[in-house]
Amino acid sequence: MAENSKIEWTDHTFNPWIGCQNVSAGCDHCYAETLMDKRYGKVQWGPRGERKRTSAANWRKPRQWAKAARGTGKRPRVFCASLADVFDNKAPYGARADLWSMILDTPELDWLLLTKRPENIAKMLPVSWGEGPSNVWLGTTCEDQRAYDRRWPVLRDTPAKVRFISYEPAIGSIDVGIDGPWPDWIICGGESGPGARLMKPEWADLMLMQCRNRGIAFFMKQMTGKAPIPDDLLVRQWPEVA
Ligand code: SF4
Repeated sequence: MAENSKIEWTDHTFNPWIGCQNVSAGCDHCYAETLMDKRYGKVQWGPRGERKRTSAANWRKPRQWAKAARGTGKRPRVFCASLADVFDNKAPYGARADLWSMILDTPELDWLLLTKRPENIAKMLPVSWGEGPSNVWLGTTCEDQRAYDRRWPVLRDTPAKVRFISYEPAIGSIDVGIDGPWPDWIICGGESGPGARLMKPEWADLMLMQCRNRGIAFFMKQMTGKAPIPDDLLVRQWPEVA
């Protein structure tokens, strides 16, 4: 379990702002919307909703994490963002530019930028991106085959040190194809919370088998409703980073 995040595959989460809008079936039970809009009423979700930049104190945290990591030989992973989407075209003015500056200022951290809007990545990356900073992993969520066929080719063609897929919530099977290039890493997970849609265990089995056959790192996060993970699926790998 991560120290400062409940998400098993990261050490920290950082939200530069809060707020978003549903873009595909994977968003139907958006945890962030349930929490921040419906439960706490902090941000209105949806096309007319706002995006609220988080506090200055929150923005100071990544530099503190980076400082704490110095000399430890460890590279904490930072998931950005769990309550928003980094490549949202309604991001608060200047927030994405500030985020790029912070990422470059914190080479001790590996930043995991996960989006459901990979089609926006190219136009929103900083001009200095080049082959991608060595501390940035780019990922896209693919909840089913349709999403994979649409989103992975875009991410595949974007320069990045690590490209990964979050297959969560898995609501259909995915065939990653016979020909690469494939993602470096696939995180697999079923939905949790009220009304969770079923991830058939055979979909996770199929993904694990494909990852094994293609040399893709596989991380089994959770079954539907956080049911116990069967032993044969309990594989938690991270990509090899040079
Ligand atoms: S992209 Fe993510 S944060 Fe935005 S609505 Fe969808 S699930 Fe929620």
